[in-house]
Amino acid sequence: MTLDIADLAQLDRAHIIHPYLPGSATERVVMISGSGCRLTDSQGRGYLDATGGLWLAQVGHGRTELADVAHAQMAKLEYFTSFWEFSNERAIELATRLASLAPAPLSHVYFTSGGSEGNEAAIKMARYYHHRRGESSRTWILARSKAYHGIGYGGGSATGFPLYHEGFAPMMPHVSHLTPPWPYRTELYGDQPLSPEQVTDFLIRELEERIAEIGPGNIAAMIGEPIMGVGGMLVPPADYWPRVREVLDRHGILLIFDEVVTAYGRVGEWFAAQYFGVTPDIIVTAKGITSGYVPLGALLVGDHVAEVLLRDHGFPMGYTYNGHPVATAVATANLDLIEREGLLARATGLGAFLHAELEAQLGELPVVGEIRSVGMMLAVELVRDRATRAPLPLHPERMPHDVIRRETGVIVRDSAHSLVLSPPLIMTEAEAREVATALRGVLERTEPTGEIRAA
Ligand code: PMP
Repeated sequence: MTLDIADLAQLDRAHIIHPYLPGSATERVVMISGSGCRLTDSQGRGYLDATGGLWLAQVGHGRTELADVAHAQMAKLEYFTSFWEFSNERAIELATRLASLAPAPLSHVYFTSGGSEGNEAAIKMARYYHHRRGESSRTWILARSKAYHGIGYGGGSATGFPLYHEGFAPMMPHVSHLTPPWPYRTELYGDQPLSPEQVTDFLIRELEERIAEIGPGNIAAMIGEPIMGVGGMLVPPADYWPRVREVLDRHGILLIFDEVVTAYGRVGEWFAAQYFGVTPDIIVTAKGITSGYVPLGALLVGDHVAEVLLRDHGFPMGYTYNGHPVATAVATANLDLIEREGLLARATGLGAFLHAELEAQLGELPVVGEIRSVGMMLAVELVRDRATRAPLPLHPERMPHDVIRRETGVIVRDSAHSLVLSPPLIMTEAEAREVATALRGVLERTEPTGEIRAA
């Protein structure tokens, strides 16, 4: 059956509920194939992928080596459960590999099918850990405004955007949101501009006060993305995580890093925990673990936590697809590619190149307030006024990222008032320059009112 584009769009509208797309929207981009950073849609139109799909295509599109691994594993053993005493060689191989890459003492692995499941598991693990140790009162989860932790009721409640809660109430109780670390937005911390260290002082004071309010004996864990992705690639001051860790340790509160975006090379290390020099008790990962070739997530769990979870009857929660042989086989092959092609170092070098290119091409534009990045996570903050840092007004029917895609084929994403980029780590410098040029072409026609003049 071959369908032409008009049919595809119509059938899509008739049958598929897309996240975040109103039923009234008629436009569809139906992707057909991909290679490296390039994609082609059903009309034969080409795209340059500067978001890595949804922040995950570390090794790029169209890697037939990964298809071969999936094929071979599916032919040998497509699936069996990992419940009880059952296991499979591919899951064991990947868990052993992850334990060797993760900071000590995180040598235990719990598999999921994605990031949302991972955060549900992490939150439940934290509560269960305290319960098993006789501290059942430790139920509260500390999170931050602007955090994104997926769509479950646990992670979704920890998510710090009212939009994701509206209409879904009641959310999970016993979640408390703190102020996010974002020195550029000085209004978050009062009237006075603060240095990064003073921002950390403010946030640590708030954390201590919140712990005192709730009672340390009632708090299970704090969950946080080391660099907040959906919130707009918010990079905390260097001393933020070490100081948070110190406070939590003093109160027996676990630290969960949601590294669904930041792990597997995106920030130039296997894990952002290593970038910040902080070891959490649990690291939640997904996305880049397979570069998106098949769905998979993995929690890296500290030995001190695992030891408690494994007592008595063990950890009473499992997914049908825990340790799926095909997904874990593809993940190992994907990690091999990341290693063989030196993509950690490449993320650092190419990220610096792309940052410099954005700075050179966009840095002086009146609507560009800040360009920030760590490795291959980058953001361009859009403002109405560079002096006041007032956010650029947005017009949903003509957003900069949509105009950039329609005019140039370069795919970037919006996040609040910023454009966020997380390209495949294999992007070339010529492609990186093409991304910056595409952004410039639209942002230099963007007025402080948010209107975009015709080309
Ligand atoms: N945590 C973070 C930090 C994320 O960015 C995402 C997805 N963008 C998730 C969790 C949820 O992962 P998934 O969509 O695989 O469920």
